[in-house]
Amino acid sequence: MTALLALTLAHAATVEVALDVEDAGVLTRSQVESVAWHALSRDVGHDAVFVEAHGPAVPGIEQWTMRVSWDPQVIKVDGHIFATLAPRLRIDDGSGERQWLGTALVFDHPEHGWVSLPDAALMRTFDRARGKLAEATWHALPETHALRVVVAVDEEFRADWGEHWIDAVHARIDRANAVLERAGIALTVTGYEAVDSDDAADMRAMLRSLDRLELPDRADLRIGMTGQVRALSATDMEDVAVAFVPGQTLLIADQRPALRSLASWDATEEGTAMAHEVLHALGVPHLAVPGQLMSPEKAGIVHSLSPVAATLARGAMEARSTLDPMRALLALEDSARQLSDRRDAISFITHNMQAGIGVPYPGLVDPDRLTPLGNAALGRYYLRQARNSPTDADRYRRTAALHSRAALARLDPRDEWGSLLDEFASALCDESPWHDAEGRAVCADAPAVRRVENPPR
Ligand SMILES: [Zn+2]
Repeated sequence: MTALLALTLAHAATVEVALDVEDAGVLTRSQVESVAWHALSRDVGHDAVFVEAHGPAVPGIEQWTMRVSWDPQVIKVDGHIFATLAPRLRIDDGSGERQWLGTALVFDHPEHGWVSLPDAALMRTFDRARGKLAEATWHALPETHALRVVVAVDEEFRADWGEHWIDAVHARIDRANAVLERAGIALTVTGYEAVDSDDAADMRAMLRSLDRLELPDRADLRIGMTGQVRALSATDMEDVAVAFVPGQTLLIADQRPALRSLASWDATEEGTAMAHEVLHALGVPHLAVPGQLMSPEKAGIVHSLSPVAATLARGAMEARSTLDPMRALLALEDSARQLSDRRDAISFITHNMQAGIGVPYPGLVDPDRLTPLGNAALGRYYLRQARNSPTDADRYRRTAALHSRAALARLDPRDEWGSLLDEFASALCDESPWHDAEGRAVCADAPAVRRVENPPR
């Protein structure tokens, strides 16, 4: 008996779990802790201690990071269709983050009608994650992803730096990479171009003319370096550097030549501007976090990148590096959920698809595989296409209607961006005179969805 007990204790290990619970009004933090504690204890033999954030490592105690959030999901039970929330579980046990998307559960309660069972759904999701986390539905990109750049250097930049212009470029790329590393991105120069810039042009005009050059096959982005425009009293990041959001061209105005007398001038400032514009090129908008890279204010040298900016950049990289439009779309809609402004989220998805593998051919994507955000983004894109190409307008409108209806059908009562989808649906109605086979307006027959409430506690 004693030997058996000793054996059991030897297998049990304590893990410190930094638990992050999305407050979606579904389960409280302590309810999530309870489900997680039982799953770790029963399935992995661990005794879990929950903390908000990890402190210094303690020998013999593993440190895990766990996040529980909720995704809108539509399920069908006994012929009824329900829009509800499903658990998404992310676990990092030290060997990289793995992710599981669970299935929502609902139950026909004798008194309260249909109720959702989020704790049971979360338990079932932990069941899927059991067994030393072997099986995952989603894998992150390799830790660092090369973004290939061609550097276009104008005559002023070359004249200012003389024979050292390549060193000057590399100093700036190195500084940008020091910041971008946090998003797992490494700029890799694959070629140089000598360009002549128009002496009368401003930054925007120079950016547009650079953007007209065809991008070499070996490059994902073109970075222009000019010695011409010097914004010494810049308060905006875009006074020193500009990019299309998203796009494949950015332009950095070198500040150092104008400050030749300052021996202490540091290339880090242009490196910060370069990293900022690279993220714009990947579709990351300004994020109002002071002192962080994507803040619109030019605050000198910045080293920190917010987790939101890093997640968006990773999603964009993943979408641009795959040949599978569905995978690109899923990566984009997953990371776009970080943007609280749903309009930004929608344009992040569609613009990055256009910059990468392209938007799927109408009818190719099953709306049921997408979240409301993904459906809204595709709906809006096809609607725009319908306006731009009159010959294929009907086909585009039909696909736009399918995706917008799917977005509306999955609306959840707790969804903050319901009003945007309503607005989107009415825009679809106003702008698209398309009618279905029976002559009904596409906007008139969005499926009625039964709302699911949480069980009373
Ligand atoms: Zn900016």
